Amino acid sequence: VSHFEGITMAPPDPILGVSEAFKADDHELKLNLGVGAYRTEELQPYVLDVVKKADKLLLEKGENLEYLPIEGLAAFNKVTAELLFGADNPVIKQQRVATVQGLSGTGSLRLAAALIERYFPGAKVLISSPTWGNHKNIFNEARVPWSEYRYYDPKTVGLDFEGMIADIKAAPEGSFILLHGCAHNPTGIDPTPEQWGVIADVIQEKNHIPFFDIAYQGFASGSLDTDAASVRMFVARGMEVIAAQSYSKNLGLYAERIGAINVVCSSPEAAARVKSQLKRIARPMYSNPPVHGARIVANIVGDSALFKEWNAEMEMMAGRIKNVRHKLFDSLSSKDKSGKDWSFVLKQIGMFSFTGLNKAQCDNMTNKWHVYMTKDGRISLAGLSLAKCEYLADAIIDSYH
Ligand code: PMP
Repeated sequence: VSHFEGITMAPPDPILGVSEAFKADDHELKLNLGVGAYRTEELQPYVLDVVKKADKLLLEKGENLEYLPIEGLAAFNKVTAELLFGADNPVIKQQRVATVQGLSGTGSLRLAAALIERYFPGAKVLISSPTWGNHKNIFNEARVPWSEYRYYDPKTVGLDFEGMIADIKAAPEGSFILLHGCAHNPTGIDPTPEQWGVIADVIQEKNHIPFFDIAYQGFASGSLDTDAASVRMFVARGMEVIAAQSYSKNLGLYAERIGAINVVCSSPEAAARVKSQLKRIARPMYSNPPVHGARIVANIVGDSALFKEWNAEMEMMAGRIKNVRHKLFDSLSSKDKSGKDWSFVLKQIGMFSFTGLNKAQCDNMTNKWHVYMTKDGRISLAGLSLAKCEYLADAIIDSYH
């Protein structure tokens, strides 16, 4: 009998488990709209040309593979903060940002969670309802208490703005408010700039700490600056802000695990102390981060020709997703005779669309139509082609009614 007899089987991951089920299906029309990874119109994975070029340059330079410092590659940490806050943001000049390279968005969030657990005992993190499924896991594993604020309104398939504001107001002073910088996952519903202003007002009033998860900068609108506007607005108000970044989507570096955690502090001394503690947390977890993705990002941003090329490819990817979104809306509107208003599909932004399908309807999508998706009704438009929009519309309409 095994020493591990007492260990029970863990449930499959609700997002990554979808890909496993997809692989096991051999139907020719099957579609994987589960995981959020960009695909070409031919539904193939995509490596950015600019990444291939940067890779080639790295190989030519023949850099060594010695350990990075605990906080990561200095050149990466510099450019990643500049990309997020803007290169001429006073918080950078004043050295008020603690930036530490993390294991992509997930690992960066996990570092911030550990910092909260250690230095803000009992403080709560407020997360949107719904949110990316891994947020709850991350805070649970870090033993940080969390609760939800209202976000999604099923009646309008839009934002429950009043509910959101009321719940942020009602949270104990000094709570951490987790916000999706752009392209909210899973709903695709973002606050308007005016609504962001009101959210910042309430957070400031209640002395809360805004905690941004920005996993789609440049990938939502096609512009790095537009997608960072929410974060920059909070920083411009002089607030202290936490922000976790990811290069999985906007540079297609999913498997490189490259991202960063940034803590904007009100003084350079505080930033230095925070950074020292983030390093102390990272050291016994994974010692130091991987170098390759960090070099790719630093080299692309540091070279004006490559940077331009990256921006063009980002626009292309965001553009393909927007085209698919329009085609899906057109297909739904023309095929559905029930009079249902599908305009919510067009109002959403980013790689996801929240369809409003419930769990039983999602099961119908998968069992009858071989469309693989998470059970919350989310579909990844990045995994959809123009050619498959009509088929998907048929599946959604059949499942709804
Ligand atoms: N936050 C959100 C909201 C996400 O959607 C994702 C990617 N699915 C991440 C963080 C982190 O992804 P990664 O760890 O690959 O950067």
